[in-house]
Amino acid sequence: MAKITIEKERCKGCGLCVLSCPKKILALSETETNRNGYFVLQVSDMSQCIGCANCAVMCPDSVICVER
Ligand code: SF4
Ligand code: SF4
Repeated sequence: MAKITIEKERCKGCGLCVLSCPKKILALSETETNRNGYFVLQVSDMSQCIGCANCAVMCPDSVICVER
């Protein structure tokens, strides 16, 4: 299974990665914010991740790291 690391404190909640995920397992939290006040990225079901790294490529701030 792929491993994803999210540097939540650097996420600005833009949602681009959410749109890029072919498995639809990424979402912005509705409750958790970082110190900048942005709703942060969460993975709903890591077992569904195919390690395609679309999310990492799409993120303009390199918040996501995908290892496979
Ligand atoms: S690596 Fe691919 S499947 Fe996994 S969360 Fe990112 S976009 Fe979705
Ligand atoms: S693309 Fe990057 S900055 Fe935007 S929501 Fe996703 S992880 Fe956060």
